[in-house]
Amino acid sequence: MHADFRFCPVCGGSLESRSIKNGDPPRLVCAACGFVFYLDPKLAVGTIITDAESRVVLVRRAIEPGYGKWVFPGGYVDRGEEVQTAAVREAREETGLEVRLDRLINIYSYTGRVPVIVVYAATMIGGQLGCDDEGLEARFFESGAIPWDELAFRSTGEALREFMQSLFLSSDRRPGSH
Ligand SMILES: [Zn+2]
Repeated sequence: MHADFRFCPVCGGSLESRSIKNGDPPRLVCAACGFVFYLDPKLAVGTIITDAESRVVLVRRAIEPGYGKWVFPGGYVDRGEEVQTAAVREAREETGLEVRLDRLINIYSYTGRVPVIVVYAATMIGGQLGCDDEGLEARFFESGAIPWDELAFRSTGEALREFMQSLFLSSDRRPGSH
């Protein structure tokens, strides 16, 4: 992934791969000015939104990667933007729904992968389900109808599974439920 960046963003000099600290991976260092170009993770955020009937909102992707597959709404957090604000914004942009964040489900990261994905459970509080140009369609899914084999990303399946498990456990504990 180092090969993608060849020039220093500060002075335009050539970047070279150099070991600057024992035990750390090699870094891109500018041969002219010494600037170290750290390749940081990218922070993404997603929301698993439920409506009053406990159905989950999924969007079918109209862009690569994962074209044609299902995912819950989400996207990258802008620099300087609060993560929760980004979660609500992405939900609104991609599904047309206003949501309230309820709790953090988990944070997902994978060896060798750039994104770190923060996933919240959220409740629909307004709006009308639709999708923007990043989605082919948006739908509500009953918990038994989630298209497990057609999910876009590893984090999509893992977060949905954790969310479903937590629902099951909390309804189990609720007095009078069956
Ligand atoms: Zn430089």
